[in-house]
Amino acid sequence: MIGLMGGTFNPIHFGHLRPALEVADLLGLEEVRFIPASQPPLRDQPCVSAQERAHMVELAIQSEPRFVLDQRELQRQATSYTVDTLLSLRQELGDEIPLCWMMGMDAYQNFTQWHQWQKILELTHLVVSHRPNYIAENPLLNAYHTKQQSELFDSPAGKLYFVSVTQLDISATMIRDEQKNSRSIRYLLPDAVHNYINEKKLYI
Ligand code: ATP
Repeated sequence: MIGLMGGTFNPIHFGHLRPALEVADLLGLEEVRFIPASQPPLRDQPCVSAQERAHMVELAIQSEPRFVLDQRELQRQATSYTVDTLLSLRQELGDEIPLCWMMGMDAYQNFTQWHQWQKILELTHLVVSHRPNYIAENPLLNAYHTKQQSELFDSPAGKLYFVSVTQLDISATMIRDEQKNSRSIRYLLPDAVHNYINEKKLYI
């Protein structure tokens, strides 16, 4: 089973990395792919280039062998629709292997506004981790919900599973704001990313 973690990663922080690690441990994932969005739908264009955001992901994951950077959305240029990403992953990985698209509660809350969300659930499971300050319901997804972890292994896609992870009240927005206001962002994200942001004078 492979985990997939999409995001803007502007920048990547411990609120992405720790839940991904905990989910990987809990589900016994061999690999978690971090997939930065080039131009995320439903959002403004990120203020830092896709290449720089991808490079920060690379710096952040270098010490965890299960974590891998997947740049397929950056190669596409156009708006990053998750459904297209998954179709491309299925071409590479085949139809049999279970895939788990990981997301926080905020993303889950809006999931049924995503382009072709039903099709997404034909291509992957959703694994939703709790995120501080977000208590979300999405009744349209009730039919997909399972409390049995084993069901994620029984089919390649189509299940919704919730996990409790360590709650880290960190967001990229908060990091960008702190940096802009000349307050330290150290210990909110890996040192290597912190150093890169300061070297390149990002988010100032
Ligand atoms: P921004 O503040 O710019 O909106 P973000 O910190 O929410 O960014 P994204 O790149 O938009 O980060 O998020 C990618 C994924 O990571 C989403 O599924 C989101 O729910 C999840 N995520 C982000 N931060 C956390 C956190 N602190 N705890 C759990 N999940 C998180």
